[in-house]
Amino acid sequence: LPRHRVAMIGSGAWACAAVKLIAENMAAAEAADKFVSEVRMYVHEEEVGGRKLTDLINESHVNEKYMPGCFLGANVVACSDLLEAAKDASVLVFCAPHQFIHRMVKTLAGHVSKDAIAISLTKGMRVRPDGPQLISELIRKELGLDCSVLMGANIAADIAKGELSEATIGYNVLQNAQLLKDIFERPSFYTTLVPDPVGAEMCGTLKNIVALAAGFVEGMGYGPNTKAAIMRAGLNEMRRFAKALYPTVRDETFFESCGVADLIATCYGGRNRLVAKEFVAAELAGAPASFAELEVKLLNGQKLQGVLTSNEVQAILFRRNWEKEYPLFTTVNRIVNQQLPASAVVGYRDAALLPM
Ligand code: 13P
Repeated sequence: LPRHRVAMIGSGAWACAAVKLIAENMAAAEAADKFVSEVRMYVHEEEVGGRKLTDLINESHVNEKYMPGCFLGANVVACSDLLEAAKDASVLVFCAPHQFIHRMVKTLAGHVSKDAIAISLTKGMRVRPDGPQLISELIRKELGLDCSVLMGANIAADIAKGELSEATIGYNVLQNAQLLKDIFERPSFYTTLVPDPVGAEMCGTLKNIVALAAGFVEGMGYGPNTKAAIMRAGLNEMRRFAKALYPTVRDETFFESCGVADLIATCYGGRNRLVAKEFVAAELAGAPASFAELEVKLLNGQKLQGVLTSNEVQAILFRRNWEKEYPLFTTVNRIVNQQLPASAVVGYRDAALLPM
């Protein structure tokens, strides 16, 4: 049987932590019959200290820009050409900010084997004239591949350090999910298979909006009761919205790592929460800053997903006249767009009723 070749499409913090897990599995002696050891990683080329990022990664096997000090694996090869990275791959792992995936799949279309499979680690959705589109749906449609998702409480830096974490693999085709489990599962990284890819992906996507609310609460100086109240309301809106858009979504999925566990991790330790907290600090200091400005200032080139997702989800709520039924999502969106002060987060039940 031909051996599987895995390609990583992306090189940010999460892609680095994930490729390290994959590379360890691919390099293991017992994997040699089934997998090619080399893992090519598509890296959006940039200059770091006057050198090409791909050259730096290929020399040191560390991505000093996005995951400093983390050894990715000697079998990881950075490529700045997307087609070269994906060449001959039988498993494509998508892990780039969601706003870039459309362009990537357009480039890949016609250049990947019809027998390949895909998995998306990317959290986000697109809003198109004919309705919402999850990233896995985009990949399936443009590339004609089965696409599973891997979502969970996965703060990248902690995974890179080898701390115990777990994730949910949402799948349509069990056989493909079992192969993906072999690719990702490590002694410190547990994976659970769930036959609800849409529910898992909706969890991973929507929790970024709730994480912004958690950051507002922290920035206002409120304690755990308030944050828990906001997280509970957020989880509730996540579940209702996911099921309203996709009736096949299962309640049980919200109890997996991709659901409540990711919500907790992200609301306590994620970047959306961090930037939202700083957004409030700037507002309270009388020097308001936009999320775009704070992203540049705080994230060293990483991309924030929550604000885009909030705007995308709000477009759907607005079009369907659902804004009042999702008062927390709606309030977060108005704060993000500086139509309401951050203090409105605790009055979300009333704030969302205000006409705009
Ligand atoms: P942030 O993008 O807010 O850091 O989210 C982290 C995350 O998704 C953990 O699973």
